[in-house]
Amino acid sequence: MSRGPTEHVLRRQAAEVSRLIWERGWVANHDGNVTARLAPGRIVATPTALSKRALGAEDMLLIDESRRVVRGRRRIFSEVGLHLEVYGSREDVAAVIHAHPPHATARAVTGSSLPCFLPEAVVTLGESVPLVPFALPGPAAEAALRPFLLESDAVLLAGHGVLSWGVDLEQAYLRMELVEHLSQIANLAAPVGGVQALPASTLAPLLEARTRVGLGRADRHRA
Ligand SMILES: [Zn+2]
Repeated sequence: MSRGPTEHVLRRQAAEVSRLIWERGWVANHDGNVTARLAPGRIVATPTALSKRALGAEDMLLIDESRRVVRGRRRIFSEVGLHLEVYGSREDVAAVIHAHPPHATARAVTGSSLPCFLPEAVVTLGESVPLVPFALPGPAAEAALRPFLLESDAVLLAGHGVLSWGVDLEQAYLRMELVEHLSQIANLAAPVGGVQALPASTLAPLLEARTRVGLGRADRHRA
């Protein structure tokens, strides 16, 4: 594995992203969680039961792949199994973010997936952002997520919110931002006719472009 950012840098970045998802109104109360993979079996993670508004680098935890806190005084959040599921399936991924951005979550709680109806979005996220069926938090929710991990870089979680991932926290954050932006447009379009799908003939070249820039399934390996 190439040398990535240090633990301190990841702690700082996780605190910055936490603040950002709070500022943007994507979380309330203690909602949301952020992780970044430091090394195999070493993950920097936000602690449970604190607002994302006020987390500092020193509040972050370092955990191992069995959820044990290796460094830090606080407790790990219960949804960490979803993050570990992503890291377990995708060795190219080094950051995962979960939040409840309102426009995307409105779709998730009404059981709608999100088609990618803008050309740039197909390149960034693929044909659509799928909806993971609702399952009870814990092993059932982790099993429900598993089938989507190789094809997708962001998903809507039915009855819950959004999970996104990427090679670093910036990419995972930008993917969630795009999911929320597309959802806002789709929801605004719904009462005036709804978004129109891109012509089917344009999908293949857009998906080829996605592969060319190093995204999409062709570029992936199982961990
Ligand atoms: Zn949640």
